[in-house]
Amino acid sequence: MSRIELDHDVVVVGARAAGAATAFLLARHGLRVLLVDRSRYGADTLSTHALMRGAVLQLTRWGLLDEIIAAGTPAVRRTTFRYADDLVPLILKESYGVEALYAPRRTVLDPILVGAAAAAGAEVRFGITVTGVERDCQGAVTGITGRARDGATLRAAARIVVGADGIRSTVADAVDAPYERVGKSVAALTYGYWTALETDGYEWNFRPDAASGVVPTNDGQACVFASASPGRIGRGGLEPLTSIVAESSGDLTARLAASAPPLALRTFTGRPGYLRRAWGNGWALVGDAGYFKDPLGAHGLTDALRDAELLARAIVAVVRDGAPERDALSAYQTTRDTLSTDLFDVTDVIAGHRWTDAEIPDLLLQLNAAMADELDTLAALPPLPTPAHTPC
Ligand SMILES: Cc1cc2nc3c(=O)[nH]c(=O)nc-3n(C[C@H](O)[C@H](O)[C@H](O)COP(=O)(O)OP(=O)(O)OC[C@H]3O[C@@H](n4cnc5c(N)ncnc54)[C@H](O)[C@@H]3O)c2cc1C
Repeated sequence: MSRIELDHDVVVVGARAAGAATAFLLARHGLRVLLVDRSRYGADTLSTHALMRGAVLQLTRWGLLDEIIAAGTPAVRRTTFRYADDLVPLILKESYGVEALYAPRRTVLDPILVGAAAAAGAEVRFGITVTGVERDCQGAVTGITGRARDGATLRAAARIVVGADGIRSTVADAVDAPYERVGKSVAALTYGYWTALETDGYEWNFRPDAASGVVPTNDGQACVFASASPGRIGRGGLEPLTSIVAESSGDLTARLAASAPPLALRTFTGRPGYLRRAWGNGWALVGDAGYFKDPLGAHGLTDALRDAELLARAIVAVVRDGAPERDALSAYQTTRDTLSTDLFDVTDVIAGHRWTDAEIPDLLLQLNAAMADELDTLAALPPLPTPAHTPC
């Protein structure tokens, strides 16, 4: 059986929002990066994809927003919140240069990030399943082990291993990253793509145990979702979705009836949110691997792109500029946690559907305030110094 041996500054496990963005930033700043994923390039994944301002800011600064737009991703300039008795339309105001939101399909967003990582010099390998980490005699992580689809085994040494491998992270489990915060709520979500649905932006409809919404996306389609307690969503599909939409927005029910429904829907059966310890000797976690919250807040991708930037800065400081690893990586976690705690807590309450019609508007204002803090912090980051030399 063949054996692949590799050696890089950083190995990033998971080539989607968090991992591809981290690899892109590291490679752009002169580090030798290996980015691996067990799936296929461009494959879809279980996720809706509404981006908030922080994500659009990141994509703009990284020079990638034009590609998202060129892929036919519609600009979203209006968000409508619907409660029991109220309809609150909001027109997006320009802030930090962000004039519109976007919701690219994961088949659009993730390959653009992977392409940027490769173009910046990262070595990208799909079809590699990481099975564990290697350690030195002091316990520091020194690389990963894995296997390719053809059965070849792989060992890749690295100064730092980044786990960006999602909610069932092999890396986080291999390093035994403790759960430092765990949410109390579990909601389920079912979604699908309607064609030619009349909509003019993001729509979020909130009734207790019956939340729904619309996210306009590529190819003239709109992602329609319903979130409720797992018992109500069951195995998901059109029946619970239409019943929840009917309860939360009669208006959306009428528009769904006038458009072409999907052939199949996808369903997330729910999982409580968590924050795991984000670093240790020779390793770090980014994206859902280290920090997950219920999708109803539509913020996982935005936070993944945020933390890719924060982690990449820390790793560049260590590997390129010689900063102490412990200081740089612990500062990464401190910033991640500071920016995440309020959002995590309020998302947990919203996802638990433990609110009344009277309470939900205020909870959404709290969510919005947490997002605003995150945006201010991201916008205030100075540019990373460009590398003294780029790889040949
Ligand atoms: C139903 C649902 C709806 C959502 N809707 C939204 C939304 O509207 N907006 C939003 O911002 N967020 C949303 N989210 C959250 C969002 O999907 C996640 O936050 C985001 O995918 C995190 O990106 P990631 O790169 O950390 O992980 P992932 O996207 O999960 O990518 C992890 C990658 O790691 C790879 N991998 C895993 N294990 C291994 C291994 N052992 N070896 C090699 N590769 C491995 C996987 O193949 C995968 O490609 C939603 C989530 C769900 C479940």
